[in-house]
Amino acid sequence: MSESTEIVSKVLALSHCLLNKSIRWWQNNKSIEKNRGLATQLIEFVSRLNVGIIQLPCPEFTHCGNPRPPRTKDEYEMLPGFMEHCNKLARLTVEQIKTLVTMSRRPRIEILAVIGVKRSPSCAVNSAIRRIFSNKNVEEEGLFIGILRREMLRENLNPQFLDFDFDNPEEIKGDLIKLFSKC
Ligand code: SF4
Repeated sequence: MSESTEIVSKVLALSHCLLNKSIRWWQNNKSIEKNRGLATQLIEFVSRLNVGIIQLPCPEFTHCGNPRPPRTKDEYEMLPGFMEHCNKLARLTVEQIKTLVTMSRRPRIEILAVIGVKRSPSCAVNSAIRRIFSNKNVEEEGLFIGILRREMLRENLNPQFLDFDFDNPEEIKGDLIKLFSKC
């Protein structure tokens, strides 16, 4: 392979709980299995695609710990200090990602996609519920993912953003196959 041939190594950035379910929101009547291990179906599938993985921070756990009260997107937005916390985490994360990208010449590291978590007030890509009238909900990006996306764009990082659904773990596979078939 000549010196001028570009060699690329692809990486996915995953929401924290996809690799570590222990920090997910805890409820006393919930099965402990929801808070143990990792998102097995996704990780097994991704490992066959020959990509690297980086783990994003969990904004809710690092601000509120566990157990934490159930909160909607609006409630997290109003929670004192939470938006500042998300901003700080997003800036640090983008700095780390930018270092990976700018310091890698051979192989060049490419951040192919960010994978968030469906319906999460913080980490959903486009399925966080916001109540706009007393009886009407809309689906939006989560608070942390929204800031992360804007900070990444500011640094000219423009990966795809996909949602993983813990209730339907197979759903994302089609999107990932499409993504990899374009590479
Ligand atoms: S979805 Fe985001 S905020 Fe919720 S547990 Fe996972 S990483 Fe934390």
